[in-house]
Amino acid sequence: MKKIALVFLLAVFVPSLVLAWLAMRSLRDQQLVLERQQSLLCQGAADSLAKEADDYLAEHQQEFGRQVEALLHAPGSQNLATTFDERLRKDWPLAEVGFVVAINSNLTCNLACPQPSSSPAASEFYAENSKFLCNVQSAQVYFNDAKNAGNNSLFQEAQVSKANSNFSQQYRNVIPQQQTLVTPGENNSQQWSKVAPSEAEFRQLVGNSNEGTVARFLENKLRVLLWYRSPNNSRLIFGAQLSLPQIIAALRPVAGHLDSSLQKDLAIALLDDNARPVAISPPNFQANWKHPFVSTELGEALPHWELAVYWLDPSRLTAAARTLKLTLGLLIGVLLLAIVTGGWLIVADLNRQLTLAREKTDFVSNVSHELKTPLTSIRMFSELLAEGRVTDPEKRHSYLRIITAETSRLTRLINNVLDFSRMERGEKKYQLQPCDLAAVVRETLDTYRPHLETSGFVIRASLPEAPLVVQGDRDALAQVVVNLLSNAEKYSETRKDIEVQVKIHTEPLPHADVCVLDRGSGVPGACAEKIFEQFYRAHDSLASGIQGSGLGLTLARRIARAHGGDVVYHARDGGGSCFILRLPLASAPPTINT
Ligand code: ADP
Repeated sequence: MKKIALVFLLAVFVPSLVLAWLAMRSLRDQQLVLERQQSLLCQGAADSLAKEADDYLAEHQQEFGRQVEALLHAPGSQNLATTFDERLRKDWPLAEVGFVVAINSNLTCNLACPQPSSSPAASEFYAENSKFLCNVQSAQVYFNDAKNAGNNSLFQEAQVSKANSNFSQQYRNVIPQQQTLVTPGENNSQQWSKVAPSEAEFRQLVGNSNEGTVARFLENKLRVLLWYRSPNNSRLIFGAQLSLPQIIAALRPVAGHLDSSLQKDLAIALLDDNARPVAISPPNFQANWKHPFVSTELGEALPHWELAVYWLDPSRLTAAARTLKLTLGLLIGVLLLAIVTGGWLIVADLNRQLTLAREKTDFVSNVSHELKTPLTSIRMFSELLAEGRVTDPEKRHSYLRIITAETSRLTRLINNVLDFSRMERGEKKYQLQPCDLAAVVRETLDTYRPHLETSGFVIRASLPEAPLVVQGDRDALAQVVVNLLSNAEKYSETRKDIEVQVKIHTEPLPHADVCVLDRGSGVPGACAEKIFEQFYRAHDSLASGIQGSGLGLTLARRIARAHGGDVVYHARDGGGSCFILRLPLASAPPTINT
């Protein structure tokens, strides 16, 4: 058994555990994949909305160019360089201040417009930008790394300056919720702003281009400047400082342009450079704005502004992953349980087979002993009689009785063994025909009574006089009764009292009970059902000294069941056993019941 347990452990249990462990690992990966898919979906949505906002700003860049061209071709364009601020603001409400930078023949610059005295806004603009626009001072401006990489020498210069400076502190750290999902070593550039600040002069910034955008933070306030140079007059650079409230008002609808299939799960916010929402969809949504699920920057025109995506119900993300984990976990658990149960059943069956094999071996030695004992007595007494040494007729008679009893014990044993092997091979056939059960019991008891009484048993019988018809095989039924009587004899050592009763019952169906009661040792409680198993013996031959094959009750039950009935055991009040042969009645029971 120890060996089987070891094999079970090594061949079934340990591999099952390893499989379960591998399955749990792949389950965790599955969860990561699911979360990753969701973050990619949201990132896609954020990117497309950010692009929409970016396109909107690019459109304004072009519109500004058209406005400048229109003013250049309008009457009075000769003095446009000095009146540009006033005329632009009149025609284009998005402009807060209009400015013109004139490039002189010696390549120096001067700010032709606005005049600081013309308005408070112009005065502020002049103070903030004149030195930068006139190339007297460089200023911190913003570039999009990805957009400018490889094609802008100024950008490359900026990269060098970043490498030499403590640029990482200048970058705004973007911390979306999904950061927690990114495993170490993965490309997590998402966390850093793509828009990098760099020192540059306006002239250097303009280079040979015709238009562009410059974003600056002055006293923590964002200033967005557009500039345009007409192909007809490259010495004048026209520009406009955009009104931020107007830009926000124009961008606000973008937040609501989320795909309808995502609207029920996601919220969108347009965040300014301080991570404050300037537009939210749905409007009453609230969250920790600094921790979006995913976010995309709008670009260099609005540095550090983000289009941020949030879960309306953040627990849904984990809930879906948890449900998946739970379902697959349960599945793995059930499979593991099935493997272990299956393995356990195999081991149990193996164990049963081993027990059966052991019982068969015991059976062979029991039967050999059973055969030997009567044969020894028969031989001994018949030799005595044959030699004529016993002259006392009383003794001769007693010896002959012993020989007869031992012969019938042998016959019974051999009959049982033969019947059992026939049953095992499926060859046992019963001649079922109406027969009187009371008569069968009476005749069997009459045959067995002398032997029992000689052995000191008191026999009491309570049988009905009227015929009790059952559909049965007389010999087989007699064999059941003999086996029960023989057991009652074998297992009654001190109180030799046997009672045989035949009772009729009408509920649930009409049936007869043949009860064989004794006052013997009784069957130990734990073995009450096992005694009907083949070769099983509750009283071990060696320990009890009672011989047996472990087949008597097996046969009795099989015969009874072949007749549509059963043999059952009850412990008897006051000690002893009560074995009942139960058989269905073939005809209505007689009215008189004894
Ligand atoms: P056996 O040849 O051992 O008697 P059986 O199949 O007839 O085989 O009985 C199985 C076991 O049931 C016996 O070994 C015995 O332990 C128990 N048994 C059967 N009849 C009785 C009884 N009347 N009283 C006590 N134990 C019994």
